[in-house]
Amino acid sequence: MEPRSAAALGTEFPYTLATLCYIEVAEDGTVTHGKDAGTYERARDGKCRLFAVWPGEWASHLFVIDDLDEYARAHGLMHDPERTGLADHEHAVQWELDPSEKKPMGSYITIRVKLDCGCNIRDLDAFAKQMRAQQGWDIATSSGWGGSSGSGTYMRARRKSLTS
Ligand SMILES: [Zn+2]
Repeated sequence: MEPRSAAALGTEFPYTLATLCYIEVAEDGTVTHGKDAGTYERARDGKCRLFAVWPGEWASHLFVIDDLDEYARAHGLMHDPERTGLADHEHAVQWELDPSEKKPMGSYITIRVKLDCGCNIRDLDAFAKQMRAQQGWDIATSSGWGGSSGSGTYMRARRKSLTS
């Protein structure tokens, strides 16, 4: 069976689907399943070839991961403005306590964030990473979040990490 091209599907390829099984074929032919922190670098450096099995309802398809930049962007190894809605710059951030917050002095509080720089938060993990680096914010990425560009995005964050 000839593998299909993941690159041909662009962002439609489900790089982060939980049931997707990655297969790494090393230079010496050794086959390992799954991926780890070093997979991207090994593939990029030509030390292995990366494939993935995408299980379907009736049949599974074998893909060759032939666009490693897309793989890296999907896994957050490389910043992706398109997926995340976030430019790679210092954001102009405004925040206020969310009206739903009943314990404004708690260690974690729900805030509402607005970005004046034109970005739209579509990926909280990516935003949290940027805000940690830019202003030291500690955003709880496992908590609920959401909102709209009009009313702002609500999220939980450690109160004492927030800059005014
Ligand atoms: Zn921005």
